[in-house]
Amino acid sequence: MNSTPKKGKVYLVGAGPGDPGLITLRGKFLLERAEAVVYDHLANAKLLAHAPADAELIYVGKKGGIEHTLPQEQINQLLVKLGAAGKRVVRLKGGDPFIFGRGAEEIEELVKAGIPFEVVPGVTSATAAATYAGIPITHRDYTASVAFITGHEADGKEQSSIAWDKLATGAGTIIIYMGIKNLPIIAKKLMDNGRAPDTPVAVVRWASTPQQRSVAGTLATISEVVKAAKITPPALVIVGEVVKMRETIDWYEHRPLFGKRIAVTRTREQASELVAKLEEYGAECLEYPTIHIEPMVDCSVIDAALENMAAYDWLLFTSLNAVTYFFKRLHEKGFDCRALAPCKIGAVGKTTADEIAKYGLRADLIPEKFTGEGLAEALIAAGETQGKRFLLPRALRAMETLPELLEDAGGTVTVAPVYQNVPPQGRKDELRKQLLERGLDVVTFASSSAVTNFLNIVDAQDEAELHQLLDPVKIAVIGPVTAETVRKHGLTVDIQPERYTIDDLAEAVALQLSSRKAD
Ligand code: SAH
Repeated sequence: MNSTPKKGKVYLVGAGPGDPGLITLRGKFLLERAEAVVYDHLANAKLLAHAPADAELIYVGKKGGIEHTLPQEQINQLLVKLGAAGKRVVRLKGGDPFIFGRGAEEIEELVKAGIPFEVVPGVTSATAAATYAGIPITHRDYTASVAFITGHEADGKEQSSIAWDKLATGAGTIIIYMGIKNLPIIAKKLMDNGRAPDTPVAVVRWASTPQQRSVAGTLATISEVVKAAKITPPALVIVGEVVKMRETIDWYEHRPLFGKRIAVTRTREQASELVAKLEEYGAECLEYPTIHIEPMVDCSVIDAALENMAAYDWLLFTSLNAVTYFFKRLHEKGFDCRALAPCKIGAVGKTTADEIAKYGLRADLIPEKFTGEGLAEALIAAGETQGKRFLLPRALRAMETLPELLEDAGGTVTVAPVYQNVPPQGRKDELRKQLLERGLDVVTFASSSAVTNFLNIVDAQDEAELHQLLDPVKIAVIGPVTAETVRKHGLTVDIQPERYTIDDLAEAVALQLSSRKAD
């Protein structure tokens, strides 16, 4: 037993403005090692995924900087308590901890209690909002100075600590945090103190997130514009000539899938690639893992095959999972790639072939048509079936087309299950709510079992309800087999790429939805 208490430390970490990619490497490093994470309303909850699974996650609210779920004093005490208990604490704060973040107050308490601390700066929401709204906050032609101010100070206070008379014309660009409630007063103060009423102004809400929304006007009109557009906090107000550059630079909200919400149904392990691609196009993705993949309990067939690979002429892979689980078992049994030397390798699809390449092996045959049927046809065409012996590691339940075609053409096929699909615990209520509220634009399916399992989660009472829920949503599928499964359930396929890859699927969704916007 260790009797000296472990010394805790509190790290104030800037979470960045919203886009989870805008945290610093240092911030991510600390999150990955945190024992407790204390986080805000403005820190993107996606960042919590960097924390270890057993880290304590504590939400302390703070809506728009006004409504505190936990009063600041209690947040301070919580940090002191966690630090004193010897924990490595990450205090994750929206934007930068020292820009209108009350970071200093938290540190003062830590110092008083003798708890060590560090501070990691973050991308503050002002620069992110400007950048993501296409506004350079400085520009040689327009301004050489920027001021960050808080809009809280503007209300009825007799003595504001903001020198409006100096600020109004003293700073070229003025960026106002927490300024939505007082926007009419702020705009008036700036104009009363000499700033021209036709000065361009932009307001950016939930900057750098899929919910970003920006509007523009002038000092004279912006309050009305914001009211009409029903913009509520959190939002930033950007005042100055630089706002004009928006017309040229605006990029974030112009990405093809910006503002679209897409349900991605894949196994948890595989979802990230498609999600990353769709997010690159600007979409917001909700991941619905519909298949959970588990290794086989009974490995007798594959184990016997691995002992004697010389008994096979061809080793065939029809999916990425088959590759992953085949090699996992190969290694578990104490073999490596050399055991596969006697066999030629066939792979359906580029993704599968790329996966095989990761093990230093090259597929001898990749059919033009990315299906099991396509692979069988290519083998037949190459004269590689008569008398040939095939090993087919695959899912426990799968289509029998490939083995049947090969056997019909004179081959012998050993089907060796290496993994199985099991339906995960569904997120039924959340999914049905999204569908009922028309919250989804697209749902993507990368396999037939994803379709079946997704529909199990939706759990429609009857056909009428199924159509009511899914007709407004575009259905995107990776290939013809999946498309067929969608049609079998009486639904329509809206998007299907020519080549059956994740890249092509993402591109097809982007093409279809952005062209829709144009017409
Ligand atoms: N420390 C934070 C600011 C906290 S004050 C930072 O450096 O960004 C809270 C105010 O920040 C909000 O009222 C809003 O004006 C602004 N804000 C924070 N995140 C924002 C976002 N994603 N989009 C627009 N404004 C944001």
